Amino acid sequence: MTRSDAGEIKDCQVLVIGGGPAGSTVSTLLSKRGFKVTLLEREHFPRYHIGESLSISCFRAMEVLGVKDKVESHGFQRKNGSYYAWGEEEWDLPFSHLPGEDNHSWQVIRSEFDEILLNHARSEGVEVHEGVSVKEVHFEDGRAAAASWVRGGDDPASGVVRFDIVVDASGRNGVLAARQLNTRRFHDVFRNLAVWGYWEDTPDLDLGPEGAIAVFSREAGWLWAIPLHDGTVSIGLVTGKEEYRAAYDRLGSREAVYHEAIEACPQLAALTKPGRLTSQVKSETDYSYVSDAFTGPGYFLIGDAAAFLDPLLSTGVHLATFSGMLAAATISSILRGDIPEDECRAFFQTSYRQAYERLLLLVSVFYESSRGSASHFYQAQLLTRKERQGLRLHDAFLNIVAGTEDLVDVTTEGAYQALSAKIRGEDGGSPAPISNHNTHKERLPESPELAIDGLYLTLEPELGLRRAAPGR
Ligand code: FAD
Repeated sequence: MTRSDAGEIKDCQVLVIGGGPAGSTVSTLLSKRGFKVTLLEREHFPRYHIGESLSISCFRAMEVLGVKDKVESHGFQRKNGSYYAWGEEEWDLPFSHLPGEDNHSWQVIRSEFDEILLNHARSEGVEVHEGVSVKEVHFEDGRAAAASWVRGGDDPASGVVRFDIVVDASGRNGVLAARQLNTRRFHDVFRNLAVWGYWEDTPDLDLGPEGAIAVFSREAGWLWAIPLHDGTVSIGLVTGKEEYRAAYDRLGSREAVYHEAIEACPQLAALTKPGRLTSQVKSETDYSYVSDAFTGPGYFLIGDAAAFLDPLLSTGVHLATFSGMLAAATISSILRGDIPEDECRAFFQTSYRQAYERLLLLVSVFYESSRGSASHFYQAQLLTRKERQGLRLHDAFLNIVAGTEDLVDVTTEGAYQALSAKIRGEDGGSPAPISNHNTHKERLPESPELAIDGLYLTLEPELGLRRAAPGR
């Protein structure tokens, strides 16, 4: 390793790897509170990214970051809810049914959205370096202490930067979990594959609330349609690996698999027939995974670097910003020395894990709720009993639907069955809780009542963790 020109990338308190929504969130919040934060991003923005439909919780995250007005004034397609044609059911899920005012989110072109967030981080004092890739995090006496970086292009350089804490927000690349520590585990469920492209000159979709994402289930998977503010529509297919392979062998190309799926969906065929596909057909595979640990001495993992969940409920950017806010409060307390680091890290690990597992459960139950789908694809989306028990879901499931407090004493298995029955409307009540899907307003543990391991967080006016009164 060689040190680059002195002062090029300076040592800092917090080093953030990656400038997606997760990295921008944690770095903005910490820098706003006066911490010295450096963010290294491998690409030059704007760069392409999938993940356009933002859940309602992102609205709150944009407010917390102080970037909501910039996002709003950019002119992204306003998203007022979701539409699901799911099995034999059809759901309009307007955000207006949720408590609170001004309930909306956005369908975003990610290259533009991510650039707004990264520029905002810069404007809040974060030292951002684009085109700089982190190669390795170095540990000293078991604690993350420095990282080596490389810059290519016209101005090649390399060096080492030292920090007090590093946050890995490097997305699916996963500098720590996937490349160094080998802690990334793929789930047996949701081993799916997505194929998508962008269409122009299509008629309005006109399904669900204004600007809704539309989701259509099919025998072996589902399709999405997301209207974007530049007049294009993102249309994608999610299917099982085996189903994809069989279709590919039969049809001979990724494009042919994609077009056949769209043509078999009457609503989307009506959309694409007069339209034009104006992009390449892209694909991603091997979805859902989670790292054994989200934190260790001197390091935190957030967003896709920590965990990824099947995109059925559009949870990716939500989890990225949610974990970014959690990490910012946790790191703030560590650096100020308010609360011992071990306790802070335990709080982060548990809160994030619960939020992730809750959504994992929800996605699986949602797949299960597709009545009449005995196909291999839907069977493959169901968590096995062993997986459910491994999730330690007992606490996480409690806040999934209102009125589950009576389940406090049941086992995880019992809770899963009860939740599944409730969502299917087989518990004697209405199947209304389905409206929680895709409209979820994940709650940060922001009050003593929601304390985890005796701690809760505050974002305003102070950023940090606080102790709840004993007994909570
Ligand atoms: P990213 O946005 O991936 O950002 C990580 C950044 O780190 C990148 O900019 C990368 O260049 C940088 N980086 C990587 N390695 C290094 C390195 N070594 N050094 C420096 N920088 C590095 N989510 C939704 O909310 N809604 C959706 O509708 C949705 N649809 C999806 C559909 C599909 C098919 C897929 C696959 C995902 C979808 N997602 C969706 C998920 C969403 O894309 C991600 O969850 C989200 O982008 C995660 O944000 P992040 O900041 O963690 O990671």
